[in-house]
Amino acid sequence: MTSEAAAPALVELTAVNKHYGSLHVLQDINLQVKRGEVVVVIGPSGSGKSTLCRAINRLETIDDGEIRIDGKKLPAEGKELARLRADVGMVFQSFNLFAHKTILENVTLGPIKVKGLSKAEADRQAMELLERVGVGHQAQKLPAQLSGGQQQRVAIARALAMKPKVMLFDEPTSALDPEMINEVLDVMVGLAKDGMTMIVVTHEMGFARKAADRVVFMSDGQIIEDSQPEEFFTHPKSERAKDFLSKIL
Ligand code: ADP
Ligand code: MG
Repeated sequence: MTSEAAAPALVELTAVNKHYGSLHVLQDINLQVKRGEVVVVIGPSGSGKSTLCRAINRLETIDDGEIRIDGKKLPAEGKELARLRADVGMVFQSFNLFAHKTILENVTLGPIKVKGLSKAEADRQAMELLERVGVGHQAQKLPAQLSGGQQQRVAIARALAMKPKVMLFDEPTSALDPEMINEVLDVMVGLAKDGMTMIVVTHEMGFARKAADRVVFMSDGQIIEDSQPEEFFTHPKSERAKDFLSKIL
């Protein structure tokens, strides 16, 4: 959670715009996330939340504006992009694990290929992470042998294995059966407590209340509100946020 108030932003979006054809999906987005800060992004379906995440990770290009991670602008392509992209860990709604690789291999692949770790060192670090998310005993299994909640925890471990500076989560629990949601959220709360910088798209208000330093409300490609969780949930300022909250709470 937030520590040094005066520290420069770890993630900084300045006047970011993006269109899909005639759809202005990101409209003049300005967002700063400080080191150790946890920002929850909420908003109606189609408001641009996933596009925002993918833009931060350079899975999507932007039309104009600037995105900096730890002060560095992401290049459009090449080796430098792969290296800088490793600074941003991403966890999606669908776990996207490699189906034909073991849980352990899923976690070690990136560190070996991108970071050049030896297999032994990658295995050691991966086992530590798998223990941390509570699936160490599943290391030799294939993804399909695990529950959705376990697979999502592996996806978190896999992202952490790259030692990212910031973790992005795009609706990480919305594909899960209800009884598995908390086991994933608990891992995320733990990460937040350990000081990880996080941007989390979620409608899990319990998580937002417990772990978020700020809630950013998006609607129609714009950031409409950016406030403290309690403030946002009890006194949303805009009609759009009031309307949205009345539907999900
Ligand atoms: P959210 O995650 O908030 O639901 P998205 O970022 O996924 O919103 O989508 C925002 C808008 O952009 C939606 O109207 C969606 O249909 C549109 N969109 C998303 N991806 C594409 C794409 N690759 N091409 C065209 N339109 C897209
Ligand atoms: Mg989305």
